[in-house]
Amino acid sequence: MAEAVIVVCPHCHTPNRLPVKRLGEAAVCGKCKSPMFHGEPLELDADSFERHLGRSDIPVLVDFWAPWCGPCRSMAPAFAQAARQLEPEYRLAKLNTEAEQALAARFGIRSIPTLVLFRGGREIARQSGAMDTAGIVGWARRQG
Ligand SMILES: [Zn+2]
Repeated sequence: MAEAVIVVCPHCHTPNRLPVKRLGEAAVCGKCKSPMFHGEPLELDADSFERHLGRSDIPVLVDFWAPWCGPCRSMAPAFAQAARQLEPEYRLAKLNTEAEQALAARFGIRSIPTLVLFRGGREIARQSGAMDTAGIVGWARRQG
C-alpha cells in the first residue's frame, strides 16, 4: 500500500499529501488549517467537483440529488451517517443537480438520488434509488 495519499481539502479544495497511517487521525489542511474530514458529506459545485475528482487518491462517493426530490431529502441523513463510517477511506460528497445541470447531464444522471463512486477520477460504479445507511456503506465497500 502507498505510504502517502493525496486528499483534497473539503474547505479550500487544496490537494494535501497525507501519510496513510495518519488518515484516521485529526489531519488538518496544510493551507487553510481546517480538518480534512468532518464525518459529513461535502457540498460540491462544478469547480470543486473537478478538483476533488481530478486529484483525490481516495475514492469519492457522490450523491447526485436535488432540493425538490423527496427521496433525496429522505436519504440525506443516511448518507451523512454513511460518511461517519466510510471516512477517511472514502470522501463523501453531494452534488446538487438543479444547481449544476451541465454536470448532471455530462454524467447522464436520469433519476435521483443516484450515487456514483469515482476512483482516480473515473466512475467505477453507480446506483440509483434511495438507500439506508447500511445499504450505502455496504454498496461502497463491495465495489472494492
Ligand atoms: Zn484547506
